[in-house]
Amino acid sequence: LESKLPDLGTTIFTQMSALAAEHQAINLSQGFPDFDGPAYLKDRLNYHVAQGANQYAPMTGVPALRQAIAAKTQQQYGISVCADNEVTVTAGATEALYAAITALVRAGDEVVCFDPSYDSYAPAVSLAGGKLVRLQLNPPAFKVDWSAFRAALSPRTRLVIINSPHNPSATLWQADDYNQLWQAIADRNIFVLSDEVYEHICFTAEGHVGALEHPNLRERTIAVSSFGKTFHMTGWKVGYAIAPAALSAELRKVHQYLTFSINTPAQLALADMLNAHPEHWQQLPAFYRAKRDRFAKALAGSRFTVLPSQGTYFLLVDYSAISELDDVAFARWLTEHAGVAAIPLSVFSAGPFPHKLVRLCFAKQDATLDEAGARLCRL
Ligand code: PMP
Ligand code: GLN
Repeated sequence: LESKLPDLGTTIFTQMSALAAEHQAINLSQGFPDFDGPAYLKDRLNYHVAQGANQYAPMTGVPALRQAIAAKTQQQYGISVCADNEVTVTAGATEALYAAITALVRAGDEVVCFDPSYDSYAPAVSLAGGKLVRLQLNPPAFKVDWSAFRAALSPRTRLVIINSPHNPSATLWQADDYNQLWQAIADRNIFVLSDEVYEHICFTAEGHVGALEHPNLRERTIAVSSFGKTFHMTGWKVGYAIAPAALSAELRKVHQYLTFSINTPAQLALADMLNAHPEHWQQLPAFYRAKRDRFAKALAGSRFTVLPSQGTYFLLVDYSAISELDDVAFARWLTEHAGVAAIPLSVFSAGPFPHKLVRLCFAKQDATLDEAGARLCRL
């Protein structure tokens, strides 16, 4: 069999979670909470199942959820989006990203992304026959070099994929980054896919700036988010895409035959949750800031250097005072010998990424973080 994706193996998240389980290590690798989402959300799911909301949902998402998403978007960003024509509910952010890329990228098109980049972008671009143009960002700031970006654009450039808050670097884009992006693409027929799954997990005073807030970018952007992150339910796999009607219509053509529609009772429960408890997502920064600070404080006594985390539930640590190993080998060693699993950073870049950095997930109970901190301090 001639593979369509010959270079693709099992994702690093699956690999490291399996290694963590094998060695009974504390799993700070794959990003997911080790605690449950809100009891109210679970009750509403049970309620809707009992009420018989168990058949296909409308293709674009249940109206109550699309309306609740539009209301949240208005509240958070002060922009109005049309629940009927501009919001599409998807099977997690992963499906939204895949549907957006499949809908927009034609054979031979170029897609620009910034490395380190989330691992689902490249295979989707490749399956669409596109060519990924990867611009490397470097620690500690992971800032875009805008002249390099402009130089990377060509007449074949069709799409730019951006991600803030950024996984894995835990950095944020500022309003100026969006201005720079707009200035570079204003005169060209280029679209933007903005992965904002951590939109509610930001620790700076300014907070998250979304691509949709930029009035010009708004017309070219598909913004993607995920309830997995916001409600501590990564296994529910419900996300969404917001885009102008014409872009949404194209995305929906793919979504219609990729999944057709998403789990009905989960959508209804999420709509109830958004309507009844907006304080949940409003208080998420404080909730995760406390965890970030607790874990960073625990690591202050270690030989790791902790990089600042402005958003997401990840922290980068530099281990150059501890080991000469490359990051992939170190992440394995850490799992096997220190009992803490981490994600190496280099796997998110196509080119060399010779830094001694691993990513640790702090979406964990305080006791888990304390024990992981104690283990890491022994190195
Ligand atoms: N994008 C980024 C940057 C992510 O970190 C994740 C999840 N880890 C996703 C997309 C996928 O989200 P979902 O689980 O909702 O498909
Ligand atoms: N996005 C999660 C992370 O960055 C993992 C999701 C997955 O396992 N596919 O850890």
